[in-house]
Amino acid sequence: MNVLVINCGSSSLKYQLINTDTEEVMAKGLCERIGIDGVLTYQPKGGEKEKTEAAMLTHNEAIQLVLDALVNPKNGVIKDLGEIDAVGHRIVHGGEKFTKSVILDDEVIKTIEECNDLAPLHNPANLIGVRTCQKLMPGVPMVGVFDTAFHQTMPAKAYTYGLPYEYYEKYKVRRYGFHGTSHNFVSHRLAEILGKPYDSLKMIICHLGNGASISAIKDGKCQDTSMGLTPLEGLVMGTRSGDIDPSIMEFVANKEGLDMAGMMNVLNKKSGVLGISGISSDFRDLEEAADGGNERAKLAMEVFAYRVAKYIGSYVAALNGVDAIAFTAGIGENAPTIRKMVLSYLGYLGIKLNEEENGKRGEELTISTPDSKVTVMVIPTNEELAIARETLALVKANA
Ligand code: ADP
Repeated sequence: MNVLVINCGSSSLKYQLINTDTEEVMAKGLCERIGIDGVLTYQPKGGEKEKTEAAMLTHNEAIQLVLDALVNPKNGVIKDLGEIDAVGHRIVHGGEKFTKSVILDDEVIKTIEECNDLAPLHNPANLIGVRTCQKLMPGVPMVGVFDTAFHQTMPAKAYTYGLPYEYYEKYKVRRYGFHGTSHNFVSHRLAEILGKPYDSLKMIICHLGNGASISAIKDGKCQDTSMGLTPLEGLVMGTRSGDIDPSIMEFVANKEGLDMAGMMNVLNKKSGVLGISGISSDFRDLEEAADGGNERAKLAMEVFAYRVAKYIGSYVAALNGVDAIAFTAGIGENAPTIRKMVLSYLGYLGIKLNEEENGKRGEELTISTPDSKVTVMVIPTNEELAIARETLALVKANA
């Protein structure tokens, strides 16, 4: 089966066409600057990456360009659109309504819309992608895969905020968690590599990318995760603050003359390691600057690693132990320095780092020594493949 995976944002759209029999990516790319001017990137399997400026004033035009590229006689990978058997859509927020992936029909789309105010920037854009695909590929089954679904197994004690309970009852203010597709994919792969039943393991997954989150898994279920109502909570991230004293908002807003929107902009876009270092949100730049003696870049990396280590420590308590820890996403997969800094706090767990393995990049690695009490691995995430697998399973089940 060929599954088109779509991750549709407000002005950009990532896509991959995946053959689910071989799990090969047939073609992939992205549309950028939708509604402004438009740039299409397209790369067929084994071929060159092509970047074309192409007007895409609407998502409709953007997706049409993607479909045209896929069937283009020159370097397309399918003869006609009939070869796309299903479409898998990434949906950011499923609230409490979606605990797993679903076939998208009118009723489901309406229910997703009811979650829009929980993710006002993301969900409406995701749904534009769904509607546009429905229009351009009528009759092709569409599946929604939610970032929040994996974490819906969290117990109430983990997802309830210390706020008046009526906010939960009235507005569903609670912790949801994100990156669920990645935490799900990586934790299952971790259990597979360890050759142990999924529900027998206590696992901690560190998804460290531009956005970063940690999850704690036991009895085959997610028990806790670091992001909350929105992806702002938890770790110090590329540009997001993560956990702070909420009173800082009033204090800084008064000092800087900011309103609520201005303050949220600071916490989402100007904070994290970018805010601390004043240099960059990208760990490659930070490492270079720190190596060159920049103290604030060094501090940003230390703050980041310390927060990750503290979360791991708290999840070891939540799980009453840990069998295995996995690092994934841009930083988790590619930054051995950060992994080493994090693990340097965890010697008390009997974790021993294999420095040589930790020095390798971009592949599945066991970075703990054979006599380490906890297995620590690097496992590349693959959210698109996870979405394609979910799509295949649901379409088959509903055939
Ligand atoms: P997202 O999907 O949230 O945009 P990614 O998981 O792709 O993020 O991670 C991107 C981040 O990964 C970059 O901002 C950078 O900080 C980090 N990163 C990528 N490659 C490297 C590398 N070679 N060394 C250190 N950090 C890296």
